[in-house]
Amino acid sequence: MFADVIIDQDAKALDKVFAYLIPEGFDVKVGMRVIVPFGARYLQGFVVGIKDKCDYDEAKIKSISSVVEDFSAIKPEMIELMKFMARKNHLNLASILRLFLPTEMREGKVKEIFKSFYKLNKDVQIILSKSAKKQQDIIDYLKKVEKEESSILAEKFGYSALKSLYEKDYLIKEYQKHSRRPDIDFGETNSVILNKMQENAIEKIKENKTYLLHGVTGSGKTEVYMRLISRVLKEGKCAIMLVPEISLTPQIFNHFKSRFGEQVAILHSGLSAGERFDEWKRLFSGEARIAVGARSAIFAPLENLGVIIIDEEHEQSYISESNPRFSTHDVAKFRAEFNSCPLVLGSATPSVESYEKAKNEEYKLVEMPTRANGKDLPSIQIIDMVSEIRRGNSGIFSNQLIADLANVINNKKQAMLFINRRGYSSFMRCRECGYIAKCTDCDVSLVYHREDNRLKCHYCGKQFHVLDMCPKCGSENIKQGAVGTEKVVSELQKIFPDVKILRMDNDTTGTKNAHQKILNEFKNSLPAILVGTQMIAKGHDFENVVLVGIVDADQSLFHADYRSTERTFQLITQVSGRAGRGGSEGKVVLQTYAPRHYVYKFVSNYDYKGFFRKEENIRQTAEFPPFSRIIRVLFSNQSENKALNELKVCYNEIVKIKERFGDEVIYLDAMKSPIKKIQDKFRYQILLRVKLDHADEIESEVFEKVNSLVKGNVFIEINPQNLS
Ligand code: ADP
Ligand code: ZN
Ligand code: ZN
Repeated sequence: MFADVIIDQDAKALDKVFAYLIPEGFDVKVGMRVIVPFGARYLQGFVVGIKDKCDYDEAKIKSISSVVEDFSAIKPEMIELMKFMARKNHLNLASILRLFLPTEMREGKVKEIFKSFYKLNKDVQIILSKSAKKQQDIIDYLKKVEKEESSILAEKFGYSALKSLYEKDYLIKEYQKHSRRPDIDFGETNSVILNKMQENAIEKIKENKTYLLHGVTGSGKTEVYMRLISRVLKEGKCAIMLVPEISLTPQIFNHFKSRFGEQVAILHSGLSAGERFDEWKRLFSGEARIAVGARSAIFAPLENLGVIIIDEEHEQSYISESNPRFSTHDVAKFRAEFNSCPLVLGSATPSVESYEKAKNEEYKLVEMPTRANGKDLPSIQIIDMVSEIRRGNSGIFSNQLIADLANVINNKKQAMLFINRRGYSSFMRCRECGYIAKCTDCDVSLVYHREDNRLKCHYCGKQFHVLDMCPKCGSENIKQGAVGTEKVVSELQKIFPDVKILRMDNDTTGTKNAHQKILNEFKNSLPAILVGTQMIAKGHDFENVVLVGIVDADQSLFHADYRSTERTFQLITQVSGRAGRGGSEGKVVLQTYAPRHYVYKFVSNYDYKGFFRKEENIRQTAEFPPFSRIIRVLFSNQSENKALNELKVCYNEIVKIKERFGDEVIYLDAMKSPIKKIQDKFRYQILLRVKLDHADEIESEVFEKVNSLVKGNVFIEINPQNLS
């Protein structure tokens, strides 16, 4: 017999299937890890197929040296998934397989932790010949102790006796189930009575389809998820539940733990490698049947899935932007299809892409339009910061926000102040009239680049002089730069010196459990103000928060990104959802320099559909995704010349592709990347925007060409989240 083996190395030349002979007496199965001779070395590989014939000269073929562990670490579904991802995302096979295993397994620690045991198989009659003395000793021993570790049995009675008993089916093998469990405090989950909206959603979601669950913040989607999972468990099946970010996960975990106990395994990057591995093992062995976690939990080693849920489906973190690049939605769709189970995408603000699919009936739309507790969504008041300046207040906070904060403090309640900041870059804005510098060709905001003191368009590369006067109103008060959390906290402390003010951002959450500590402290302080970035936007359910302030809503709006309006709508809806979740009514104060921008009208009315229609229209007219596809080929190299040469070679070939496809290519150009240098590597890029009809073909051709012309140092991205 022969095995198809993928070598666990990244080299392009090794990115294929190699055939090896399975030596006599080796028990090799698909999905096992093996050691094989390769050139002068021995390398680890994955068995992805077994066959009885081989195309190579059988005399020359080499043999598998040993197996890494005696079970299939990669399950059959995952081998199919690997093939799908390689096709869809043009990825290296070994790099995909690695996604399926926890890092600990890759460090060879698996044997020591995955202890195996033997016990007697009570279903067969054991008949041994008189000469099989050692085998009889094992049987007698196991009759007394019930089960024993394999290594101890082998030591006492010899490995060959053990092996022949196992091969005769007289013994059953089991794996040890002791685990390090991550710390979680068990909260109580009241068993709620479902409302009509929730019942309807649960009733609808049962076929092998993709469902878009559009439910406003507080509509009780979590309860729907949990009921769907209960149903699936009762049918003897498993479930995957994905959440976007770790700062949000503690609460979700508590909910799930108190409902499902040991059935739940947690997989996210905040766990230690050991904890992760133990959770993975519990899923692998079938001891846990629900995987809850961030993006990577989509690869949970569960079989027989009954439902896959992606909560906050619009979140960027579901796209892996570094290698291996993939979209969680694609992987989830594949697994749902493979297991014939429903895929649920839940959100209060679905991505334009997903909602477009629901509109075209590719997804089934399920709606939950009101809050579960019957409360209204908080009112959103829009504050025009330009007129605030005209009235002589040039500070960070409007008079309204200060008055509302004072009110919260007097009533011993809580407020959250949200700093809408993303990335490093910044736009130029007139502080007098709100004018924003935009690209004349692309209608996206220009980005200020400090290094060469210029404004640049991230879509077409066009450059502009920095403005020292506003072209609209003539004011010289035109600036770039945003206020950070630190500044907001210090200004706030000046106004409210005796009030507890907490800060949550990348700087304050570096250590393990830091998120939880800050959130706990906030929870237990009355009154208190929590100042934070995106991190405070999601998921938190604090009953005393009655006010949410959005300090500068435009910060995500004028990013040089076709999705920036969508992101702004999502962020504002999300943060607003933090207010008024308990008994008292909530309010949102939204500060902006562009109060007439359409996004603010829709968001303050919670009009997702209106927003979607407007946004859809704009994207369609401008030919941006989902009505086109953007392909970026990024060259990064320590040698600027090399990067530039590779760019030229590839560009010349891509121009030929464009010529063949004519109008299908909307835009093609080569340029320096917006950020010229990262980690001492120069960056150049080719940008393509193509129509959808032939997008797959063009994409494949670009991948093939680029990969054949350039080795390493090149990344191809589809609809990148970030063009810097
Ligand atoms: P979402 O995830 O849709 O934003 P949540 O799942 O956080 O909403 O639910 C919001 C609140 O409503 C939670 O406190 C939850 O316990 C409560 N809730 C959910 N379902 C019901 C129900 N049927 N009756 C009463 N309260 C409910
Ligand atoms: Zn102006
Ligand atoms: Zn442009």
